[in-house]
Amino acid sequence: MEQLLRNFFLFLGKNRRLTVLAKKYGMMFGASRFVAGATLEGALKTIHELNAQGFSVTIDHLGEFVDNEREACDMADHCIQAIEAIADRGLDSQLSLKLTSMGLDIDRELAISNMHRILKVAQKRGVFITIDMEDEPHCQITLDIFKELRAEYDNIGTVVQAYLYRTVDDLQDLNPYHPNLRIVKGAYKEPPEVAFPDKRDVDENYKNLVTIHLLQGNYTAIATHDEAMIQFAKKLVAEHQVPKDRFEFQMLYGIRPERQKQIVEEGYKMRIYVPYGEDWYGYNMRRLAERPANVAFVLKGMLKR
Ligand code: FAD
Repeated sequence: MEQLLRNFFLFLGKNRRLTVLAKKYGMMFGASRFVAGATLEGALKTIHELNAQGFSVTIDHLGEFVDNEREACDMADHCIQAIEAIADRGLDSQLSLKLTSMGLDIDRELAISNMHRILKVAQKRGVFITIDMEDEPHCQITLDIFKELRAEYDNIGTVVQAYLYRTVDDLQDLNPYHPNLRIVKGAYKEPPEVAFPDKRDVDENYKNLVTIHLLQGNYTAIATHDEAMIQFAKKLVAEHQVPKDRFEFQMLYGIRPERQKQIVEEGYKMRIYVPYGEDWYGYNMRRLAERPANVAFVLKGMLKR
C-alpha cells in the first residue's frame, strides 16, 4: 500500500498540467509546511527566522520543467538576485540549484555558462553554491561539470547518493578535488541495474560513504532525517576527533523540526534546506511520496481551509 501511494505521488509530481494549474492557483495541499512561500522575499524572511534560531540555511529556487533557453537564463538571473539579497542582508545562507534548471537538457554549454555567471557573483559575495544531484542519467554529466567548475571556483560543492552502486567509486574520483559534498540516500525512483533496491544496503552504503569522505579529511554534509545515520555520524566524529568545522548536519525545511533544534542545542552545525518559488507542486508531491504518513497532515490542513 505504502509503495502504491509513493508511486502515485511521484506520478502526480511529474504531471505538467497539474504543475501549471498549481502555479495558477497558489500554494495548497499543505505545501507551506515544506516550502517557504512562492517568492524570494518569503524565502529571505524564512532564512532570517531560521538564522535567529541558530540554523544555517541553503535555499533552492524551485524550477520544474525548464525547457527553453530563456527560462534557463531567467532561473540563473533569479539565483544571482537571491545571492545578492543574501549578501546584502548578511544572512547565513548558501544556495542550492539543479543543472537541469540551468538548461542542461537543452544544451550543456548553456548550463555551464549560466553556472559561470552565478559562481562569479557568488564568489565575490561570499556565497557557497551546491549543485543538487538529480536522477541517475544526469549523474555523470553533473559530476563532470562539477569537476570542471571546481577547478576554477572554491565556493562550489555537490551531492552524492548512497543508493547508487557507483558512488563509492565516485568518491575516490572526486577526492583529488577535496570536494565539499552533501551525502544523501537519493530521492529518485531508480532501477536495480544502477541502485540498491534494498533499504538496508542503502543505509550501509550511506555509513560507508560518510566514513570514507570524512576520514579523507573532506568537508561533509550529513543530509538525512534518519536517526540511525545521525547517531552513526556522531559516534564516528567523536571516535576520530573530527573537528566540528569539518562537517555539518542537513535536513529539509519542515521535516523533523524538533530534532533539528536538538541538534543545534547539542552543539552541532545544522543547515536547513529551504525550497521556495512558484513551482512548489512537484517538490511537495516528492515529499509526500517519501513518507505517505505526511498525507494525514496534509488532509488535516485541507479540511481546515
Ligand atoms: P529515510 O530512510 O527516507 O528515512 C529514515 C527516517 O527518517 C524515517 O523512518 C523517518 O523517521 C525519518 N523521515 C524521513 N523522511 C521523513 C519525512 N518526510 N517526514 C518525517 N520523517 C521523515 N536527494 C537527491 O537525490 N538529490 C539531492 O540533491 C538531495 N538533496 C537533499 C538535501 C537535503 C538537505 C536533504 C535532507 C535531503 C536531500 N535529498 C536529495 C533527499 C534524500 O536523498 C532522501 O530522499 C531524503 O533525505 C530521505 O532520506 P533520509 O536519509 O532522510 O532517510
